[in-house]
Amino acid sequence: MPTTQTCKNLIIGAGLSGLVLAERLANVKKERVLLIDRRAHIGGNCADSDHNGILVHQYGAHIFHTQSAKVWEYITRFGLFYPYMHRVLGLVHGKLIPIPFNLNALHAIFPKHQAKALESSLLESFGFGARVSIMQLREQNDENLKIIADFIYENIFLHYTLKQWQCAPEALDKSVFERVPILISKDDRYFPNDAYQGIPLQGYSKMFAKMIENPLIEVRLNTEASSVDSSGFDRVFYSGAIDEYFAYEFGELPYRSLELKNVELEREYFGKNSVINYPKNYDFTRIIEHKYFLDTRTPRTIITYEFPKAWQRGDERYYPMPTKEAMSQYERYASKAKSLPGVFFIGRLGEYKYYDMDKAILRALEIFEGL
Ligand SMILES: Cc1cc2nc3c(=O)[nH]c(=O)nc-3n(C[C@H](O)[C@H](O)[C@H](O)COP(=O)(O)OP(=O)(O)OC[C@H]3O[C@@H](n4cnc5c(N)ncnc54)[C@H](O)[C@@H]3O)c2cc1C
Repeated sequence: MPTTQTCKNLIIGAGLSGLVLAERLANVKKERVLLIDRRAHIGGNCADSDHNGILVHQYGAHIFHTQSAKVWEYITRFGLFYPYMHRVLGLVHGKLIPIPFNLNALHAIFPKHQAKALESSLLESFGFGARVSIMQLREQNDENLKIIADFIYENIFLHYTLKQWQCAPEALDKSVFERVPILISKDDRYFPNDAYQGIPLQGYSKMFAKMIENPLIEVRLNTEASSVDSSGFDRVFYSGAIDEYFAYEFGELPYRSLELKNVELEREYFGKNSVINYPKNYDFTRIIEHKYFLDTRTPRTIITYEFPKAWQRGDERYYPMPTKEAMSQYERYASKAKSLPGVFFIGRLGEYKYYDMDKAILRALEIFEGL
């Protein structure tokens, strides 16, 4: 086994970003890696665990999806994927409709004749297949488009945003809303443009364990960054929170956190889908029913309620706040980070950026290729 003294690389955080770098450094460069994490498991927020035969996503639903053949080729080296295509339903006006809102949702909500007229206006203005953000739709002058925009804003975005972010949609960066566009199509998939989608057949945690099966990689769990002397390493990759690294010198970067409440039920299914959003009712934003991801057949089911909450020290950080103030605060940390030779700030916490899994992989590969 490698010892701390002979390791060349220290990786702080065994989330996806740290795992990809560890795998590449050991398998390609044949270098030693010490990979540490303060948690008791690898995989960071993508970790899952088996509960009576059902794989439960411990930190919220994780669906692998990408347009990148490079990412797909890379990740599928470590395990088979179940060909799951993600669909989300939302409870709106008492009906379960597809999210993102699309032409099927329009027909489910509005009376037949009105729906036809509204659909024609959408098709004339944007064309079949277009993706339109709610902000873009709200800027239109056409009467029919205004009716649709008002409905979607009020029933899908406004209250969901207040629950999720505790602020009005206007206070957030527009990229938040571009992630959930209005789709002028009848394709109910959540990621219609991502050719590669799925869930690891054995689960994320087992697949990740396979990624780092190399005697050059030593893993130490339940280990804080501050407990390891980093001075003996040639490179340090830090995927923890950048403000924590600098002892909150410029203040705490704001995050949203989640309280996840798991419930196991003595029935085959609870609801009709893996993820059901509740944009307007209740204090939770969504319910996840885990067995749908791998189409697991068991007499019982496990669901998770997601309650958004403000982040405080000691809570898990989930989402960086996509506001101008938070970004400029982050920039102060980022410019200080540049002055540290041999220390790379990586991943969603190190770069204070929401990364989907595929983007986290691409970024880690890019960093590796640049070494
Ligand atoms: C609720 C939710 C749902 C998501 N769903 C999807 C999805 O469906 N599809 C998708 O593609 N992406 C999804 N994502 C994004 C996905 O979780 C990220 O892409 C991924 O977790 C990024 O990995 P990372 O390594 O950058 O960060 P992390 O997974 O956060 O890993 C960082 C690791 O560093 C460790 N660490 C931090 N500080 C220290 C320290 N001081 N000392 C030691 N260890 C430390 C942490 O314990 C953690 O394990 C979702 C994210 C959230 C929050």
